[in-house]
Amino acid sequence: MLIGQGIDAHRFGAARLLVLAGVPVPHDQGLEAHSDGDVAIHALCDALLGAAGLGDIGRHFPDTDAAYADIDSRILLSRVMASLAERGLAVHNADLTIVAQRPKLAPHIPDMVQVLASDLNCPADRVNVKATTTERMGFTGRGEGIAAFAVVLLQEGAGN
Ligand code: MG
Repeated sequence: MLIGQGIDAHRFGAARLLVLAGVPVPHDQGLEAHSDGDVAIHALCDALLGAAGLGDIGRHFPDTDAAYADIDSRILLSRVMASLAERGLAVHNADLTIVAQRPKLAPHIPDMVQVLASDLNCPADRVNVKATTTERMGFTGRGEGIAAFAVVLLQEGAGN
């Protein structure tokens, strides 16, 4: 078993759809980013890459590369998963926490779990997504942006 953790944060301000864990979330503003700003998937990618000893998302998908402008972060996740599969690594379970004062994320969590379970090739009961606020403290509490934290456990010897 290999464990990995990932952390990401993006600020609000972009005139784009808010997408979290691959799910469009109705809100009056989106997250600024080179990609689609899916902070939850970015944290997850970093956790996966970390567990596999493969560095970080910025190394694999530099934000200076026009190829990744406005890209659907699920595509980045699929590439990370392909790198893991090449090394015989599979996801045992994943646990994510999204920190946002608003919008309310609870209604969207079941959809997020379904999306991530599909992308991670693992059963839905091995994927956990949590949402919390910071009681109006800090940048997330002031509604300046959203942060996400992910922890994953990988199994070695899968496939191949
Ligand atoms: Mg990011």
